[in-house]
Amino acid sequence: AEERENLTWELFGSASRELAREVAADGFVPDLILSVARGGLFVAGALGYALDVKNLHVMNVEFYTGVDQRLDLPVMLPPVPNVVDLTRKKVLVADDVADTGATLKLVRDFCADHVADVRCAVVYEKPASTVKCEYVWKRTDRWINFPWSVLPPVVERAGQVLDA
Ligand code: 5GP
Repeated sequence: AEERENLTWELFGSASRELAREVAADGFVPDLILSVARGGLFVAGALGYALDVKNLHVMNVEFYTGVDQRLDLPVMLPPVPNVVDLTRKKVLVADDVADTGATLKLVRDFCADHVADVRCAVVYEKPASTVKCEYVWKRTDRWINFPWSVLPPVVERAGQVLDA
């Protein structure tokens, strides 16, 4: 069987603490944490508590359109964060994994024109990622099972008519 990287809820607890310690040890004191929904919400919440940052923002980025089609590039979904909230701030972008890096590149580029400093923290970074994250808990080239997405939804897929 193909080997997978299995992140359990318990392991995520210690991974996020270690990730926070990396940020703190580097002397980076973010004004706000920008999470990339949905996987980045868990990471941002954990980092927010561990780094004592209460100012959390969300960006919605998806690879899929409403018709379940994969795009060449990830797209930002509304609501887009208010640029005024980011202006001249030190921003820590939080996400679950940098795989191709396309998602984080979009977020980083969105921030770059406005903020004082933007850095990325991820639980996992894969070798092919075009964005090299400043803070990484673990590097892997395997497929990762995350505790928040390893199980299927408890409902039928929203917005989809199940088969004809
Ligand atoms: P990107 O290729 O833009 O760096 O990654 C985009 C998104 O693809 C990630 O935020 C994540 O939701 C999903 N993804 C990429 N690699 C993996 C993986 O190994 N496991 C899971 N569960 N999702 C992944």
